[in-house]
Formats: sequence, structure tokens, C-alpha cells
Amino acid sequence: MPESEYIIEGIPASPGIAIARARILAQKETLVPRSEKLDDEEVEIEVERLHGAILEADKALERIEKMAREDVSDRAEIFEAHRMMLADPVLAESIVANIKNNRCTAHAAIAAEMGRLAEIFTGAADESMRSRAEDIRALQSHLIGCLLKTPVVHDFHNDAVLVLATLSPSDTVLYARNKASAFVLETGGINSHAAILARAFGIPMVACVREIAAAARPHTMMIVDGYTGRVIIDPCPDTVEHYRRRKNELEAQRAQLGELRHLPAETTDGVRMVIAANIDMIDELESAMENGAEEIGLMRTEYLIMGGTVLAGMEDQLAQYNQIAERAYPMPVTFRLFDIGADKLVRDLSGPSSSPLGLRGLRLLLERRDLLENQVEALLRASRMKNLKIMLPMVSSVQEVVTFREVAESIKARLQQDGVEFDAAIPIGAMIETPAAAVISDALTTVCDFFSLGTNDLAQYTLAVDRSDEAMAAYYDELHPAVLRLIRATSMAAARAGIPVTICGELAANPLATELLIGLGVRRFSVQPPMLGELKMRIRSVNAAYAKVRAREGLRLPTAAAIRAFASEPGTPVT
Ligand code: PEP
Ligand code: MG
Repeated sequence: MPESEYIIEGIPASPGIAIARARILAQKETLVPRSEKLDDEEVEIEVERLHGAILEADKALERIEKMAREDVSDRAEIFEAHRMMLADPVLAESIVANIKNNRCTAHAAIAAEMGRLAEIFTGAADESMRSRAEDIRALQSHLIGCLLKTPVVHDFHNDAVLVLATLSPSDTVLYARNKASAFVLETGGINSHAAILARAFGIPMVACVREIAAAARPHTMMIVDGYTGRVIIDPCPDTVEHYRRRKNELEAQRAQLGELRHLPAETTDGVRMVIAANIDMIDELESAMENGAEEIGLMRTEYLIMGGTVLAGMEDQLAQYNQIAERAYPMPVTFRLFDIGADKLVRDLSGPSSSPLGLRGLRLLLERRDLLENQVEALLRASRMKNLKIMLPMVSSVQEVVTFREVAESIKARLQQDGVEFDAAIPIGAMIETPAAAVISDALTTVCDFFSLGTNDLAQYTLAVDRSDEAMAAYYDELHPAVLRLIRATSMAAARAGIPVTICGELAANPLATELLIGLGVRRFSVQPPMLGELKMRIRSVNAAYAKVRAREGLRLPTAAAIRAFASEPGTPVT
């Protein structure tokens, strides 16, 4: 039998698996506005039509917001934001001015004004600003739809895979309500509002599948794998069977994780762990909260400015940090200062080295006081609600932390003088990610309020392996006994001094490491949001007292291979 199936890859934007027939939704026609010049009377009519359309658009959004509140209450604010934008008098005034000045139709004026606004945000360096462009475009087509009285979609899509070029947030709600089984989009990405809503509704989505329009035919069978981003058109019976089994397994697992959501991350003998999330972008906050994060254990700030310019002023940074602090509140957020250099280079900034042994992290910031002072001032100003912490990357000596504290104190004094409200006791901690820091962790406790184990770099520097060099991958092993001994030293020093230690490197999410880490005294884990559920499940199966015995035994082993074998065979817990 000839193989008929055809596989296309896209971006996995909402997890889940769907096996269903395709429904190709025709692109809403890109209606071109009439271009003739209007006379005075027509201009007045167009202004009236515009106001009517704004009212109509708001009523429709109000209905959709209500539906969203019923189904996915924590996502309904997307529509609230759209309605606020629509109600902004400056927007309406600019469209009216465009109609009057150019004597053009309301349609042409909306397209010109909102298109211009979207364009401004499209070029922004920051992800959340770019997503405003998406909002404006969605609102623009909604408003034009109301103006031209294009009917709102209310077809039934029971169990169909919907194939679309783009998807607005409001259409996502309508399709979800009509039981779409998956979305396959030609465009879009993981942080679009449509993707956020699809995740909230639990509908699988694969975005950015460029060839889908050419490859998909109506009513063909499709498999959409929202975990891997794979779309299979006309799958063979064996493939269908494989995915059916996988879908059932995953659904059972999800149900189990869902039940766990409200249970604490506690071991079988009642030792409470804190589970936190590592995030790079503000939009990941939602996913962190959804997955049960109790804190943001690592907010990597260099990604806020990557692709843009690191010389972003204090005010720009403050706007970003304020947004994060407010959206997360009362959840604590640990901001790591710019860790620029090695694998994290920033366009437009000369100085940091691409070599892992070159200038990076705190050393770079202490040489570039302008960068350091701007960032610390922005963080202090954003700390007034007392839910922020400052974490120093790539610490290798006590002196670096002392110098940093002097800089922070002088900024605090200036802010105090200016009457600025901030958290004077903001906790300051160190990433323990160089062997030097781990070895002198006892001394570092005297100048740090907390530690965070960055095992990605700790493994790189301990094992002398460039973590970005694929040719060296076989030598890079976070379960190497040398790395584990440094974790033990750090955790013991922190325990003696009574300061908290979190683990935020990838090792924190490694299933083989959970019991060992608990045995080594780690009580706080920070992982990527999707890993939180499984981490909690594992924590809840560990006995902390027994883990301590096991860790002692495991750390006597001489090789990573032996430790891996030991960790994969659970022993018998003491009761
Ligand atoms: C680490 O080094 O383990 C870490 C968490 O930081 P990054 O991966 O950003 O260097
Ligand atoms: Mg690091």
C-alpha cells in the first residue's frame, strides 16, 4: 500500500492531540476600501457610519468577553483590553480626522490609522509590545467587519481541525465555543493571544505552518500534535492508531496533573518544597501561574532587550519591570541582572566576549557601571510592592558582591533623597554557577540573602566543556559527581547560614535528579513552566528522609554513568 501521509512541521503553540477532518476556513476577503474622494455630505455620513461601527464593535466584543469569562475567566482581560482600545477617544478622533482631511471612506481611514498604529508596534524590540500590534490588527478587522456588516462566524465546527491563515482572539473564542478540535495556522507563534486562548480552552494549536494552505484539502483526515508541532495530513491507519493511543495516555496523565494542581509540592513525609518557574518573557507569566508556580525563581532579563539595544534607558526598563511586578503580585519574582556574554550576546553592545571564559555576567556589569546602575535603579523603583529580588549572575568572589552592594546602596540613597518609594530591604542573592562560587559558598553566605544554583553553567565550568559546543556534548553531564558535590557544598553552606537555596538550572527538571537533589538538601526548584506539573508529581512520590540516605550513597559513586544507573532504580523507602 503506498504511503499516503504527508507531514508538515510548525510551532507547537497549544498542547494536545487532535485526530479529525480538516475544515479550511476561507480567508476573510481582504476588502480593498473605495478610493474616490467624497463630497461634504458623504464625509458626514462616513463619520456617522464610523461611530455606528464603533458601537456595534463594542457590543460584539462585550458578548465575546462574557463568553470568555464563562469559559476561561482568567483570559477574558484580552477583550477588556480590546474594548478599552476601542473606547479610546484619541483613536476615534484620529480616524475622523483622516476621513475629513483625506475625504475618504471610514473603511479607508480605519485601515490607514490602525495600520499605522500596528506598524509602530510591529517594530518594537519587546515581545509584549509586538503583541499589541497583533491586538490592533485584530481590532481593525473586527471594526471593519462591523462597518461592512460582515456576519460574525457562528458556524459549527464540531470536531473539525480548523485550518486558517490567521486567527484573532475573538474568533478563537467563537470557534472554541463551537467545539473546534484543533487549530492549524499559517502564521502566528506561541505567545499570540490566539495561542494563549487556545491553551486556556485546551485546544491543540500548531502555528506558523507555512505550507498548510497548499497541502490541506477540505475534509481530509489530519492529526495535529500540539506537543511537537507536527501536522500529519492523510495519516496511515498505523499512524492513526499510534496517535489514538498517545492521545489517551496523555489525557489520562493530564487529568492526573490537573488533580495535582491544588495539592502542595510536599514529600510523602511532609517536607514542603517550593516550586518556581524560570521565564524569559513577560508573556510566560501566565503559563507559569497556570502550571502552579509559587514564585518566579529566575526571570532572565537579557531577553527583554535581546534583538533591541541593551542601552535601553532606565525608564524603558522600569516600564517592563513594573508590568512584571504588577502582573505577578503577590508572587515573588527573582530578577537576574543582565547576564551578557558567552552564549548570551546582545546586538549593539561591544565589550562582552563570546567565549565562556571571557567577560560576562556580573564582571561585565561592574565594568559597565552605566548598564548596571540603570538596571538596578529600574529594579529598585519597580520594587515598591516588595515582591522583587535581585540575583547576580556569574559571581566568582565575595568582593564582586560587596562592590555590587556598594553600588546598590548609593542608588538607594539617591532614591531616598528624591522621595521615591522602593523596597529598601530587597533581597540580593548570587547565582552559584562557577566552581569558585560553590567552593566559597560558606563565605558568600555572609554577603548574600539567597543562592540559586545555575547548574547549566556550573556543569560547563566544572567539567571544562563549552555548553554551546555540540561536538563536546558527550562530555557535558550535570549528573557528574563533581557537579553534585558542588551542589552539596552549596546547599550545606546555605543551610548552616540559614539562607534559602533554589536550583534553577536544567538539572532541576531532570526526572533522575529530583530525589537526589532533595537528598542533598535542596528545597526550592525553579523550572520551565511546562515542567512544573511533572516535577510536583515526582516530589510528591519522594520520601525526604530516605532521599537523604540515597543521596549519601549516590554521591559515593565515581562516575556520572553509575549515578544515572543508581538514580533510575528507586530503592525501598524507609517508612
Ligand atoms: C544556569 O546557568 O544554570 C542558568 C540557569 O542560567 P543560564 O542558563 O541562563 O545561563
Ligand atoms: Mg548561567
